[in-house]
Amino acid sequence: MSQYSRRKFLQQLGAGIILLPGVPRFVHAAVPRSDKKLGIALIGLGSYSTYELAPALLETRNCRLAGIVTGTPEKAAKWKERYKIPEKNIYNYQNFDAIADNDDIDAVYVVLPNSMHHEFTLRAAAAGKHVICEKPMAVSVTECTEMINACRKAGVRLLIGYRLHFDPYHQAAMKFRMSKEAGQLHTVDAAFAFRIGDPTQWRLKKSLAGGGPLMDLGIYCIQASRYSTGSEPLTATATIEEKTDPKKFAEVEETIRWQLEFPDSVTATSMCSYNKQANYLKLTSENGWLELQSAFSYGGISGRTNTGTLDFPHINQQALQLDGFSRCITDHLESDADGEEGRKDMKVIEAIYRSAATGMKESVK
Ligand code: NAD
Repeated sequence: MSQYSRRKFLQQLGAGIILLPGVPRFVHAAVPRSDKKLGIALIGLGSYSTYELAPALLETRNCRLAGIVTGTPEKAAKWKERYKIPEKNIYNYQNFDAIADNDDIDAVYVVLPNSMHHEFTLRAAAAGKHVICEKPMAVSVTECTEMINACRKAGVRLLIGYRLHFDPYHQAAMKFRMSKEAGQLHTVDAAFAFRIGDPTQWRLKKSLAGGGPLMDLGIYCIQASRYSTGSEPLTATATIEEKTDPKKFAEVEETIRWQLEFPDSVTATSMCSYNKQANYLKLTSENGWLELQSAFSYGGISGRTNTGTLDFPHINQQALQLDGFSRCITDHLESDADGEEGRKDMKVIEAIYRSAATGMKESVK
């Protein structure tokens, strides 16, 4: 190790970052606490904010819930009391831009329906606030590019809510291909599906969701394929299954299946659906395999490899993600869950939809 790379290695170790060759860079939360607690405002107080992110923000060491943005005054009153949020840190969608003058809020977390991510990221960047944006980052590659450019121009960070980058089971999947015993990776198999309820919800409306389960669930399979292989897919071949409930799924696909070809003849086969049950990730290689069940859930993941059971302690994915992102912002650290990563997934999503429409193998560009 040269003196320079040794010094860099020691600095990274001190900062809690381990850069392994070929493994996505991420910041884990087992790190010394940053001096400053980043003030975060949640935009959109729906189920993910209410049941996952706000409770996680009570556990974080590097950030805190500083403000909220909501279109519902009753929610504002409840959250104000429950989380002791000062009135001056409560915004609605109309007066949101005034957040520019609020020093309590360093970053916003966009937790709105998918098609609103673009608008609120642009407005947050214009207000000089760092942005954490939920997945899918946006509903088109063009929107992703505009979001990346707006944040770059404003000098603020753009990070995407890829919570599984912070989960030890998925970190094991990221490293699997590098274990000497496993040998060359051959296949990735991933599926994520559940039966969706309320037929009136935004997830079933194209204008708000941008697409169906591919945007919402398939993106986890695409992510897993990309971080397990450590490379970008070259082509996509996809089919949309015939709808069993055409009324409910009038605007979006019900079930979609696809295959991605990666360099070195690695293939990834996936399915996602709003009307089936599936939740797994399987990797096979020359000499081994790795399998995760409940793979994409918030917890309760189980894992095995050809050499034994994976057994990691329970962690809070959202708290680790929020702390990790906060360190990235306060300490100017890189993250692999950034806007560029979100855009790469969107390129794959667009290629999958193109292939489903043309019936041809489409290149990912
Ligand atoms: P939700 O329906 O529970 O909440 C959406 C929020 O947006 C609500 O507060 C709603 O009032 C508000 N909203 C504002 N304008 C709206 C409009 N025109 N139509 C509908 N709602 C509107 O949704 P959610 O499950 O919290 O999802 C929000 C975002 O978070 C989505 O992008 C989703 O993909 C993402 N998400 C990510 C994860 C994860 O594990 N990373 C989990 C769940 C959701």
